[in-house]
Amino acid sequence: MHNKNLGSTWKNFAYELRSFFNEWVNGVKADSFEKLSDLIITDQIKRKVSQEIKDHFIDKWSKMNSPDDLVEKLDDYNTLRSTLRSKRPRKEWHYDKQDSLKDDSAFTTNGNKKLYGITHNERGQPKCFNCSKFGHISKDCL
Ligand SMILES: [Zn+2]
Repeated sequence: MHNKNLGSTWKNFAYELRSFFNEWVNGVKADSFEKLSDLIITDQIKRKVSQEIKDHFIDKWSKMNSPDDLVEKLDDYNTLRSTLRSKRPRKEWHYDKQDSLKDDSAFTTNGNKKLYGITHNERGQPKCFNCSKFGHISKDCL
């Protein structure tokens, strides 16, 4: 009695699986082995995908039936996400860049000061290269 019930249960289970599978194959129009394997592989990948990613691709999720196409989009999404995640280190790098720019401008300012000392006196009057007097430049030298 028990064995018979178990047997019929498994038989029923197998029968259900077979009819479900046949319905599924007809439903997805898998008319070749390649198509069928693509669909099964895609289905397996989709089972591993997190809800967050499913939500992201919600519009085209049911249309993504090629594993190559699917994994490409999933990898793209991961790349995008890791780019967003690495925003903070990139910002720090940006600050570093700003600091080095600051150093550059400090250097330039020092350079200007040096130049300022040579071409102007303490009152800011230009030095004439022609006669070495302050108050006019060589262009205006008489
Ligand atoms: Zn002069």
